Amino acid sequence: MKEKGGPEKRTRKPDDFTVGTPRVASSGSSKAVNLASAAFAISVHDTAQLPPPGAPEVAFAGRSNAGKSSAINTLTGRRRLAFASKTPGRTQLINFFALGDAAYLVDLPGYGYAGVPLEVRKHWEVLVGRYVAERESLAGVVLMMDARHPLTPLDHELLAWLAPSNRPVHVLLTKSDKLSKQAAQRTLQQTRSGLSKIYGTSTVQLFSSLKREGLSEATAKITEWVRDAKNKTPPKGE
Ligand code: GDP
Repeated sequence: MKEKGGPEKRTRKPDDFTVGTPRVASSGSSKAVNLASAAFAISVHDTAQLPPPGAPEVAFAGRSNAGKSSAINTLTGRRRLAFASKTPGRTQLINFFALGDAAYLVDLPGYGYAGVPLEVRKHWEVLVGRYVAERESLAGVVLMMDARHPLTPLDHELLAWLAPSNRPVHVLLTKSDKLSKQAAQRTLQQTRSGLSKIYGTSTVQLFSSLKREGLSEATAKITEWVRDAKNKTPPKGE
């Protein structure tokens, strides 16, 4: 696959991607959720610490280094809302960011760190596995995959945990700026077709934090999920 751009080291830090306010996407005639209002709410290390289910949650998952922190920061227009500690032991938290009282963005711990101790890997499996399989208020999962290496075995594992509940998954093929336009389109088609065979309720798009591409599409999807979840929830008192 043809790649563009220099080595990763020479790209800008995730913090630098977030210049200006996020574009507001509109899906249909209604307004998008206000991702710029995201504010840190709580971190949990164990599913027992999860707050009672309430407002719809949109979770962000992905292999370490897939560009998850950059994507969250870019979508919310915040410099360091999410930041990846590259020390595996320190990344085993689920971080909740509140969008007012409308919804939560949920940053799941990254997976696939090289040389990670078995107990850390097991902890990730239990924490993330249970969260995505059982969390009542989870409206959908935004799954980051490096556009140059989509659908890794660990991505398959995550999708397998999600499959019984059949929750919607939206894949961001990240760092799409590293591929030529043609290669990016080819990856998009291939991933879309591969994914549709293993996970029906999925959608895929190209995304670049560096070039700020794909923001409207991703925001529209998150908005759709939050709105659908709200429409499904019976009003209080019923
Ligand atoms: P995380 O571990 O999934 O949270 O990944 P990060 O957001 O920390 O990104 C991992 C690396 O990829 C960093 O070196 C980023 O600068 C780089 N990166 C993230 N998004 C992009 C992008 O859209 N384009 C390019 N070229 N590099 C990116």
